[in-house]
Amino acid sequence: MLTLWEAWMDAFEELYQALPARKRVVCPTNGDGEVRLAFTGSSSGSGTALVWCDTCMTGIFLHRTRVPAGVTPLAPEKRRRVPNFRIIAPDAGSDDEDVESAVL
Ligand SMILES: [Zn+2]
Repeated sequence: MLTLWEAWMDAFEELYQALPARKRVVCPTNGDGEVRLAFTGSSSGSGTALVWCDTCMTGIFLHRTRVPAGVTPLAPEKRRRVPNFRIIAPDAGSDDEDVESAVL
C-alpha cells in the first residue's frame, strides 16, 4: 500500500514524464482536484518542483529536481502565482516501522 507521499511522488512522475505536455492527474489525497506542477530555479539546471492539488491545496516540494528541456521555471517574482499549499511530509501516512527506513 502506498503512503500518501509515495502516491504524490507517483503523481509527480506522471506529470514529469509527460512534460512539456500537460497531463491530467487527479489529486492523490482526496481525488478532488487536478495536480499542478511548477518549477523554480534555472532553466538549464536543477530547481525545486512544486506539486500541488488545485482544489484542496495540499502537495509536495522536491528540491534539486532536474528542470526538463522545454520547461520554463517560474521567475522569483512569479513565484506567488503558486498558491500556498499544505506540504505533505515524506513519511506522512507511513506505518511506524516504515518511518525509520524512510528517513534512512
Ligand atoms: Zn486535492
